[in-house]
Amino acid sequence: MCGIVGYIGTKPNAIKTIIDGLEALEYRGYDSAGIAYVEKNQITIKKKEGRIATLKKTLDFDLPIFMGIGHTRWATHGEPNEKNSHPHQCGKFTIVHNGIIENYAELKKELEEKGYIFKSDTDTEVACAMLDAIYQEELDILKTLSIAEQKLKGSYALGILCSDDLNTLYAMRNKSPLIVAEKGENKFIASDVPAILSYTNEYYLLDDFDIAILKENSLSFYHPKKGYFEKEKLIFEGNVESSRKEGYEHYMLKEIHEQPKVIMDTIQYYYDGTKESLDKNLPNLDKYNNIHIVACGSAYHTGLVTKTLIEEIVELPVTCEIASEYRYKKVFYDESTLVIVISQSGETADTLASLRKAKKDHIDTLAIVNVIGSSIAREADNVLYIKAGCEIAVATTKAYSAQLALLSLLTLKLAIIHNKIEVQELSTINGQLVELPNMIEKLILNDQYRKIATNIYQREDIFYLGRKLDYAISMEGALKLKEISYINSVSYPAGELKHGTISLVEKNTPVIGIITDSTMKEKTISNLKETSARGASIIAISTEVISDVAELILIPTVHPLWQALLTIIPLQLIAYEIAKLRGCDIDKPRNLAKSVTVE
Ligand code: GLU
Repeated sequence: MCGIVGYIGTKPNAIKTIIDGLEALEYRGYDSAGIAYVEKNQITIKKKEGRIATLKKTLDFDLPIFMGIGHTRWATHGEPNEKNSHPHQCGKFTIVHNGIIENYAELKKELEEKGYIFKSDTDTEVACAMLDAIYQEELDILKTLSIAEQKLKGSYALGILCSDDLNTLYAMRNKSPLIVAEKGENKFIASDVPAILSYTNEYYLLDDFDIAILKENSLSFYHPKKGYFEKEKLIFEGNVESSRKEGYEHYMLKEIHEQPKVIMDTIQYYYDGTKESLDKNLPNLDKYNNIHIVACGSAYHTGLVTKTLIEEIVELPVTCEIASEYRYKKVFYDESTLVIVISQSGETADTLASLRKAKKDHIDTLAIVNVIGSSIAREADNVLYIKAGCEIAVATTKAYSAQLALLSLLTLKLAIIHNKIEVQELSTINGQLVELPNMIEKLILNDQYRKIATNIYQREDIFYLGRKLDYAISMEGALKLKEISYINSVSYPAGELKHGTISLVEKNTPVIGIITDSTMKEKTISNLKETSARGASIIAISTEVISDVAELILIPTVHPLWQALLTIIPLQLIAYEIAKLRGCDIDKPRNLAKSVTVE
């Protein structure tokens, strides 16, 4: 949520550096944008409602500027308008902020009593005023920041300028991500790596309560309890090309096309076809008989697929919960419980809180994440990385598939431990694995999606039906469509529709039926017929030929471990084509942002 970029150095084009960085982070938030830069020892602030493109029109890129901070916002407190956009300035401080200051109301009251007047509705401006108030007493920036860390509750990554020291850029964080990088005399802060990739792929990851002090000729790290300290440098495995569109019309389309590769990269990193590789590369799972999977959004949907697979194949009970519920509810653990948390960014606030809850109760935890060194990765007892690379489109595709691939390997390992896979079956699984990239490629290139989309893109309600594994996959199909096309698309277990929701079905209501589980085929078909009897138009995504449907997309039958990796492709591409026909902003859907670092 929200992108922060800051620069200080010897290059005179700080404005361009910051704006380029913000554009690389725009997937994190895009309802307003702003920049503060130091010009002739004064701070100038420019901000605009809307996209970075609007802000750019107000900037003079030829100004020789050597230092500044920028922000692209995903509003939490106060409407997305100019007055609420960052940077915020109060007294001697100017800041950009990612996160939520939970005690802002109480702080605001205190500060108002001291005479501060607020111009915006944000929690950020309160944090800024608080820095100024502390500084009035302490007259020492580092001390001010250290005291502020004690007072601020909630989450923050802050880029900070103080008008008493315009040769230094300060940054600090608690719970929201922030990286620091240097390339010679050029220093950067950013919410995520893509912002700095055109300069360097080496970076430092700030930990909670770390303070970074960036000057043209020095970079240091300070911690209120430890004092000054050295930080370990990390290396990002991708490059600047991996975060560009490369000729695709949208990042989402590019990322859909990358799926055969990221799935295989993820699987082959852990599995070479032998049981030994699973033993060596995946954690020991012998003692777990009760699995809790906890995640949000699409990651939660990969959990639902995995729940079905583990219950069906391994015959172990699995609970799959939405993290924002799990963190607050009564949870029943025992000594054989493993909590698996899944998060692309590794920063999802509710998932992180659920992980902490399990750890507090001394339950073993395993994280599946994409971003190396992220908070969830660092805090879990064990972490497994998916190999999805940078995902820029807000609606996930390749990270979802890479998560599924890795979770399928965990299921396979559990199945082997519990003697649920015969030698012959394992050889089928391995044989199909080799074929997977080709099968996915062919499904991506199928030309039916545009036609299907043309028939249904003007509808306002679309239903997705399936049973068991097919239901779990349909959840993601419906979410994809909602996210990027704004159509009210809902997924139901096929047998459930008639218990109420079928009343919404009318003539030509599109119903997307998923039929890959042969044991459920007849049942699902009957449910689809119930809807077509009431006028619905059926689009079937099936491993077998189905009659009496408006459209049929045939997909290969593979072992259930791999099936979802195929079935999801038509669902992603139907959503993509519909959103395109509706003229939606596919990579940056309204109201959304990637990496949900707030509750
Ligand atoms: N809470 C702040 C605001 O609403 C920051 C939100 C963000 O992370 O973009 O302005």
